[in-house]
Amino acid sequence: MDLRSNVTRSPAHLRSLQDHLFRAAAIHAYRNVQFYRRVWDEARVDVQAIRGIQDLESIPIITAPMVREAAKLGELLARGVDPSSCTYLDTSGSSGVALRVWKRPLEERVRRAVGLRIWFEHGFHWRHHTAQFQIKPGPSHMLQRFGISRKTWISTEQSIEDQLAQLLEAKPDVVVGTATALRRIARASEAAQVILKQPRVVFCAGELVDAETRQLVTRVFNREPVGLYGQTEVGYIAWQCEQRGSFHVNADTHFVEVLRDGIPAHPGDLGTIVVTDLRARTMPLIRYNTADLAIAASGECSCGRQLPLMGSIEGRERASILLGDGRLLTTRKILDHLAGTLRLGEFRLYQESLKKFRLELTCHALVGHPGIENEDTDSHVHLTVLGHLRKLLGEVDLSIRIVKPWPADGTGKTHAIFRVGNLNEGSLRDTTGAAS
Ligand SMILES: [Zn+2]
Repeated sequence: MDLRSNVTRSPAHLRSLQDHLFRAAAIHAYRNVQFYRRVWDEARVDVQAIRGIQDLESIPIITAPMVREAAKLGELLARGVDPSSCTYLDTSGSSGVALRVWKRPLEERVRRAVGLRIWFEHGFHWRHHTAQFQIKPGPSHMLQRFGISRKTWISTEQSIEDQLAQLLEAKPDVVVGTATALRRIARASEAAQVILKQPRVVFCAGELVDAETRQLVTRVFNREPVGLYGQTEVGYIAWQCEQRGSFHVNADTHFVEVLRDGIPAHPGDLGTIVVTDLRARTMPLIRYNTADLAIAASGECSCGRQLPLMGSIEGRERASILLGDGRLLTTRKILDHLAGTLRLGEFRLYQESLKKFRLELTCHALVGHPGIENEDTDSHVHLTVLGHLRKLLGEVDLSIRIVKPWPADGTGKTHAIFRVGNLNEGSLRDTTGAAS
């Protein structure tokens, strides 16, 4: 397996590799994983007839609740797997119950190699020093003690002052964190008026990179962040190159579909990301609905890499807003609209019904405002915020409340948009023009 050279292989070569891997994955899953045998038998899938990606559509899409249920019943691990010889990762469980994702040593090495490839494509060298923001520090390996691919783990559970001090001391070449972690450290370093050493690259993983964070990080680190898209369940799926526009899909390890009404979305249209892990065998995930939204893309990137493209990552389906006229406003669209008016992390917008919204603000929510008092909500703040939100939402019933900051939820991510009402789930189906 030569991951580095796959980046520039011809699309035909990649496709034939995908055909081969997909067929092998499907046959393995049907033979050895009870869950697929059950679900595919019900859907009358003829596994022997699968030739390659062209037959993907004959396979039913599976959802996170189905997968979690199967895991609970012990139906998801391949026959003969000995968990004691495996490693595992737990999903954050922010979407409900956590899922334990098992990998055999070879699969774990593939997962790491796929991540490292992105680093190398961005000019990483073993002598480079990485600072990674994470809730809990990760492991360090032997070579790091000898200065090879040195890593400083910066725990985001520390005070922001301690995080900043650690970053200043580390002087890293590579900085990695969620949008939330990077935004907080960038705000703190601006407030403290410190000058950070310019890293070679800043990777932003685990959350979409909203406009406010992109601008702030670019200003403070003097580097535009590189967006990475992945899921604990399947690892890194796609990444931005130096062009920073669309995302390159790791097509030699994952097959990605952006679907609307169950069929591929047109380039430029919004759809749901459905991913197939082409190499997972211990706990295969085939046509797994991530419940994330993205814009479909086509064509080639001007960087010359041949890995196929996916457009912008738009956020979780359930963190989008459905308007009365059928349009779907994605997290990205809402955050980008509010950037410059409300500080991300200091507000939460709840949709309670098609026409009823509730906005919660902390006293520091308004950009350029020293601190909102409760009585302010009737006057200036109210008018500014309401007026700006109505440009996006139209004439809806919108109430504002000033609240205390929310306690950390342990995910290290920012949750700003909540669809709490029952608005007819699966509504994306009927929203022609949703991405406009
Ligand atoms: Zn590119």
